[in-house]
Amino acid sequence: MKEPIGIVGFIGLGVMGAPMAANLVRAGFDVVGFNRSARPYEALVLAGGRVVDTVEEVTHEADAIITMLPDGPAVEGVLLGRSGVLASSEPDLLYVDMSTIDLATTRRVAQAAEDWGVHVLDAPVSGGEMGAIEASLSVMVGGDTEDFAAALPLFEAVGKTIAHVGPSGAGQIVKAANQLIVGGTIALVAEAIVFLETYDIDTESAIRVLSGGLAGNRILDRKAAGMLARDFHPGFRVDLHHKDMGILLDAARDAGVCLPVGALIGQMFTAVRAHGDGALDHTALLRLVEMLSGRDPQEEAATA
Ligand code: NAD
Repeated sequence: MKEPIGIVGFIGLGVMGAPMAANLVRAGFDVVGFNRSARPYEALVLAGGRVVDTVEEVTHEADAIITMLPDGPAVEGVLLGRSGVLASSEPDLLYVDMSTIDLATTRRVAQAAEDWGVHVLDAPVSGGEMGAIEASLSVMVGGDTEDFAAALPLFEAVGKTIAHVGPSGAGQIVKAANQLIVGGTIALVAEAIVFLETYDIDTESAIRVLSGGLAGNRILDRKAAGMLARDFHPGFRVDLHHKDMGILLDAARDAGVCLPVGALIGQMFTAVRAHGDGALDHTALLRLVEMLSGRDPQEEAATA
C-alpha cells in the first residue's frame, strides 16, 4: 500500500461527496475528484481540490480512492467497468467505498478488488449533509485491520465517530441497522407532529419539551423544525432511504431475522415514492402520515 497517503481520488461529488472531498483538502490531502455529471461541486474546487474528466485520470494519480455513489450498480460500474478503477489501477491501491450499498455487491466488489491486489474497505457513513459539511460523520468500517489503520487519517478528515466493526461487508450491515433506526424514528416523529397539530398544540414548545425527556432524539433535534415548516428539500432523499430499507430487509431475510417494524417502514417509503415524493427529503414521510389521516399535504404545507 502507498503510505503515507498523499493524493486521494474522490468519485461521486454529490450532496455528501463534495463536502467530504473538501474536508479532505482541508485536512491536507491533495484531492482529485470525478463526478459523472457536471454537478455543482464548487465545495471541492473552492477548498482547493481538483476535478478531472475521467475515472482513469483519478486512478492514475491517486494513492487511495474513495467512492461516494448512489447505489450498488453505480459502485460496480465505476469499479469493474471497462474504464473503471480496477482496469486502470496499480496493485496495492487502497480503495474505500463510503456509499451505502447492498451486501452482495459489496462482497463482489471486494473479491474483485482483492483478486487485483487492491486493498478494499466498506465504510458507509451516517450524519447527513450537515455531518458531511461539518466533518462530523459516523463512519462504520468493514475490512482488514491493517487497511483500516492505513485509511484512518482519511476517516478522521471527514468524521468524528469512527469504528472498525468487522471484516468486509460489516460496515454495510451496521449502516443498514442505522437506517432502520433513523427511518423508524422519522416515522414516529412524523406521527407525533400530525397528532399534536390536530389538537392545535403549540408544536414548537411541544418539540422542545419532548426533546428534553426520554423521547429526545437526534431527529427531533435536527429534523423536526424542517418538518413543522414543511421544508422537505433534501438532505437525504426518500429514494435513497427506500434503497436502504431494501438492503436491510434483504439482509435480514437472508439471515432469517424477522423485522416487523422495519418491514412497515420499508412499505411506508414505498408509498411515499408511489405518491411522487421520491426526490424529497426522507422527512417527507410526514406527508404520507397526513394523507393516511385524511389531510391534503399541499394544504398543510400552505398553512405551515
Ligand atoms: P447524490 O445523488 O447527491 O450523489 C451521488 C453523486 O454520484 C451524484 O453527484 C452523481 O452524479 C454521481 N454519480 C452517479 N453515478 C456516477 C458514476 N457512475 N460515476 C461518477 N459519478 C456518479 O447522493 P448522496 O446523497 O451524496 O449519497 C451518496 C451515497 O451516500 C448514497 O449511497 C447514500 O445512500 C449515502 N448517504 C447519503 C446521506 C445523505 O444524507 N445524503 C447520508 C449518509 C449516506
